[in-house]
Amino acid sequence: MTNQAAKTAKQWIDDADAILVTASNGLSISEGLNLFANDQKLRDVLGDLVDKYHLPNLLTAFGYKYPDPLDYWRVVARTVEYYSNNYETSNYMLDLKKIIGDKPYFVWTSNVDHHFALADFNNLFEIEGNWLEGVCSKHPDKHGVYKLSSKIHELYQKDQAGTLTEAGIPKCDKCGAPLALNTASEVFQINQDKLNDFQNFIEDYENKNLLVLELGIGPRNQMIKAPSMQLVAADPKSHYISINKGELFIPDQIKDRSIGFSAAIGDAFRELLAGRSFGAHTEGPVKKQPKPELSPEEKAKQEAVMQKFYPNYMVDQSTRPGSYPMYLMIDKDHHSLLHTVQYGQSWMYSIGDAALVHCFTQDGNYYQVRLGLDKSKNEVHGFYADPGTFVAIETTGNNGVGFSQVSTDIPVGGDGAILVPRKDKLLQLFPNQRDIIERFSVDQ
Ligand SMILES: [Zn+2]
Repeated sequence: MTNQAAKTAKQWIDDADAILVTASNGLSISEGLNLFANDQKLRDVLGDLVDKYHLPNLLTAFGYKYPDPLDYWRVVARTVEYYSNNYETSNYMLDLKKIIGDKPYFVWTSNVDHHFALADFNNLFEIEGNWLEGVCSKHPDKHGVYKLSSKIHELYQKDQAGTLTEAGIPKCDKCGAPLALNTASEVFQINQDKLNDFQNFIEDYENKNLLVLELGIGPRNQMIKAPSMQLVAADPKSHYISINKGELFIPDQIKDRSIGFSAAIGDAFRELLAGRSFGAHTEGPVKKQPKPELSPEEKAKQEAVMQKFYPNYMVDQSTRPGSYPMYLMIDKDHHSLLHTVQYGQSWMYSIGDAALVHCFTQDGNYYQVRLGLDKSKNEVHGFYADPGTFVAIETTGNNGVGFSQVSTDIPVGGDGAILVPRKDKLLQLFPNQRDIIERFSVDQ
C-alpha cells in the first residue's frame, strides 16, 4: 500500500490551495544541527569550552550560567557562525521548494537557526525567534530588535584571534545594556508582523484545501503540532502529511485525511516529489471506523484494572487533539502501581500533598522525583519520563491534605494498553529497591 500512499500524498499536494509547512528540531537534525548531541561536532564547534564547563550538548551550552559573560558570547559566536552565518541552503530546503512549487505557503517553526529565512523562505513565523537577532536585556519591549548577524561574525573573529574583550559584547544602542538573544526567554519579543501575516494566512485558507506538511516534530510538541492538527481536524477539506521517523502519531479524528512517513525527511521528500514509493514506511490514510463497543461487563472489568494503576483517574477529552490530560488522585490507600506506557510522558503536580514518583529505567537506573511546589525540598512541578520507564506514584502526605493530585497526558491514538513489568525481572535488575518493588507490584 505504500505506493498508493506516496501517490495520494502527491495528489494532495498538487490539489492543495495552500501549504502550511510546520517544522521542529527533526528538520534541524537532518540538516546537521543537533542541539542534543554529545559528539565530535560539539567539540569542533565549541572547542575548549566543552571541557572547561563539561558541556554535554548545545542546548545546555546555551542555557548554562557562565561566570564569565565572554564565555557565553563565545558559545553564541562559535555556534551561530558555524550553523547560521556559514549556512548553505541544504537539499532538504531545495526539495521543499520543489514540493511547494508556486503555491501560497507559510512556514511555522520553533527552530531558532533561521535556516528557512537563509534559504529564502520569506513567509515564515519563528515562534521562538532566532539566534541572529538580539533584544535589550533591560528594556526588551521598548528598545527594538537588533539584527546580530554581522556583530556575531565580528565577535567570532575576535574570539578566534584571542582579542575578544568585554567591549565586544553586543549592547543596546539606546541604553547601553547588554543585548540578549531574541529567542524563547523572559525577554523574548515575538515578531508581531510575522505573527499577523501568519494569522492572515490561516484565515485566508480556512475551509479551503489546506495541506499541512509537518517536518520532524515530536509527538509531544504542544506548541506547533497540536494546534496544526487542530486546524486539520476543524477543516474537512484539509490534509495532513507528517514526516517523523519512528515517532509517527496521527490522532483518530484526522486519520482519514492524513499520511505519515516514518522515514528520513529526504527519503519522504523523494516520494512526495515522485508520487511513488522507494520503500519508505508510511501509515494511512485510513478510513474512519466506528469503534467496537464494549459490553457493560467488559467496561466494568477494564475500569477495575485501570483503577489499580491510575487511582480515581479522570480523563478530560474535551480539549486538544493529539493528547488529553488525565488527572489522578493518589492517597495512602490508593497508590499508582508500577507500570509503563508505550509513550514518554510528562507528569505534573496539580494540588494536594507532594507526590513521590518512583522511576525504574530500562537501562537499570532507579530514581525518585518529588512532585510539588516546595523547592527547598527538591520538589519539582513537573518532569518527563522517557518511553519505557516504569513508574509508581505514592502520596507523601506532607501537607496533611490526604491526597496528591497529579496529571499526565495520554495520547488520543494510543490503544490504552498498560504494560506491567515482571516482578521477578525487576527484582533481579534492582535488588536495592526490593521494598519498593514489593510494595508497588501487581500480584502476579
Ligand atoms: Zn536598551
